[in-house]
Amino acid sequence: MKEVTKYALAMTVVAALSPLTLSAEPQPTPAPKTCAITLAYEASVLPSVLDAIRLNLTRTFSCGVRLAELPPSFGGLTGVQQEAAIREIMKSGELMAIALVHQANQEGFRAARYPKVNAAVVNLAVLETPGADTSTVNPQYIGRSLRESVRVAARLLGMEECKNPRCGLRKPEQDPVRDAIGTNLCPPCSRKSKALLSEKGFRPEIQSR
Ligand SMILES: [Zn+2]
Repeated sequence: MKEVTKYALAMTVVAALSPLTLSAEPQPTPAPKTCAITLAYEASVLPSVLDAIRLNLTRTFSCGVRLAELPPSFGGLTGVQQEAAIREIMKSGELMAIALVHQANQEGFRAARYPKVNAAVVNLAVLETPGADTSTVNPQYIGRSLRESVRVAARLLGMEECKNPRCGLRKPEQDPVRDAIGTNLCPPCSRKSKALLSEKGFRPEIQSR
């Protein structure tokens, strides 16, 4: 055997044994979890509103949003029972759940939070303008529903309220003209949400453009 051939053979063996080989095969790394949000809803939530919320959450957080119907009696359950019902609906490893209800008869009930399951309940009925025409879907109501669901999701992710007047994470009480606030996150909040997601081991499912 020629010296050159022997050398080449030796290098092939070294390359095959070495963990630092520069082969084309990528080294296996723990795969990040796919980011997923459960959007649970009562049958009384209008399908067009539900669809707009789902799309807006998908875009804002680059997460997959899975729809799940709540039990018919959900709005009337106690907090402990609501938490248990959400736990049953969520799939293991999901980031959070947002439950949408439309309880016009519950004075003052705006939202509830269940930190143990990382979930929140939002009552969309309180976002309606009193006396507004309910035969068509009011654009103000849609805007408020989008903003409120983004705000709740961002808070569940661990974000603080934002001072940017156009950011959906702005505290609603701070602005008398709440309908002028945006329905998604401002660029710094958006970057922060992505950083928080990867900190929690989630990979955004949908690549942001
Ligand atoms: Zn912001």
